[in-house]
Amino acid sequence: MVSPSKRDILDVHRLGVTAYLVGAGPGDPGLLTARAIELIARADVILHDRLIPVEALAHARPDADIVDVGKVGGGEQTPQEQTTRLLVEHALAGREVVRLKGGDPFVFGRGGEEAQALRAAGCAFEVVPGVTAGVAAAAYAGIPVTHRGLASAVAFVTGHEDPGKEETAIDWGALAAFPGTLVFYMGVRQLARIAEQLVAHGRDADEPAAVVERGTLPEQRVVRTALGRLGEVEARAPAVTVVGAVAALHDELAWLATAPLAGVSVAVTRARAQASGLAAKLRALGATVVETPAIRIEPLDVELPRLSDYDLLVLTSPNGVEELLRHVRDARALAGPTVAVIGPGTAAALRARGVEADVVPSRAVGEGLAEALAGRAFRRALIAGAQEARDVVPDALRSAGTEVDVVALYRTVAEPLSDEARARALGADWATFASASAVRHFHAAAGTLDGPRLASIGPITSAALRELGHEPDLEAPDHTPDGLVAALVTTAGRG
Ligand code: SAH
Repeated sequence: MVSPSKRDILDVHRLGVTAYLVGAGPGDPGLLTARAIELIARADVILHDRLIPVEALAHARPDADIVDVGKVGGGEQTPQEQTTRLLVEHALAGREVVRLKGGDPFVFGRGGEEAQALRAAGCAFEVVPGVTAGVAAAAYAGIPVTHRGLASAVAFVTGHEDPGKEETAIDWGALAAFPGTLVFYMGVRQLARIAEQLVAHGRDADEPAAVVERGTLPEQRVVRTALGRLGEVEARAPAVTVVGAVAALHDELAWLATAPLAGVSVAVTRARAQASGLAAKLRALGATVVETPAIRIEPLDVELPRLSDYDLLVLTSPNGVEELLRHVRDARALAGPTVAVIGPGTAAALRARGVEADVVPSRAVGEGLAEALAGRAFRRALIAGAQEARDVVPDALRSAGTEVDVVALYRTVAEPLSDEARARALGADWATFASASAVRHFHAAAGTLDGPRLASIGPITSAALRELGHEPDLEAPDHTPDGLVAALVTTAGRG
């Protein structure tokens, strides 16, 4: 007999569920859970808070209905009743609705109330816990909220109290007597009062404290102080305040502050499908990444000639590799011809499909590839790539007597830019361009390139910038995405 595992039981439970209360973590997109990403990617409707990683929504379906319930017209918070009503209505209509909240949905997130409303309406739901700010912001500041010998308990407390209120809901006596770490959410404007009350009720004014602003985000800022001096700290939301001996461990264990691109904002204009690798690398180095894809890849309906008719196959971009393999399906079709690529990125895309390129030029531009192929005799070459590809390689091959066929597998088209995305990109410290088409399309969509400093991947992209009257502030010596990142670190980084 096969008995159902806990997993199976969970899956059965999930059968009629279409409403999800999902935690998005404290800000670093790397702290989204696998389940959160899976549900975001599937959702018909996403109702999200303001304090969620912007990158979380990049996982959403292009046709998903994404509603920011964190604010209305840039100001007021959507009333809770309205959010709850939307959630219930979508769930009743059988839509997959993800209610996406910062941190954990059940920690000061009003997720409990929303769950009650769903239950009352008879809607089945699932709760996806998230990494809560009180633990994560502290951790990113090098503060373990519990520590053997220093704190064997931790309390999460809301510091959000209306100072006008006569009666305080917080039992300060009990809180002051709590034998462990206190982590205050909200209430950065109440720091003086929190300190005053805790000290008045017997907590030591010299006790270590720390305020972690924008924890886990590249702009994270930590102020280390003592409880008695918390009132002097100027901090802006979102921030958590840690009171307790563990706060002093920040001095020893802080690990994030040294990121080379900390405090530097970088707009990434590559196509969405390719941006994530570049964005992740920049983020890992501490940069604030603004993803504003200027282009999109559009596959073209082409008849691919038989590869065995050629003795040279030239691939000029990772997209070209993807598209080619979509056409041939079987990698063995590439077994015949010599395979030449434009650079290491294209070589890596091929390698991921189990094909090792024969020719990879040291300079990742058409001229570099033409040089690398010079002196070798080819009878017939097929060049597969973007519709707007340059003619350097085909011209060089033709003048060496090779019969050349060029097949355009895809073209790059403009991706529309919202006003908000435009403002964020132009407000960034740097804008990165990984191709001439990204330059042209971004310029066309944004109407200008004024604002950010301009980082170009290589000479062709730089030429496109110059054509528009802009001298690049940086050109990567190594014309690859990694080279672009390295050049940014050298030029924009702190060391
Ligand atoms: N459900 C959330 C908390 C929502 S209340 C969670 O589990 O984290 C909002 C408060 O969370 C903010 O006022 C702030 O105190 C805290 N917070 C959220 N994101 C934060 C961040 N990145 N850094 C520091 N504090 C944060």
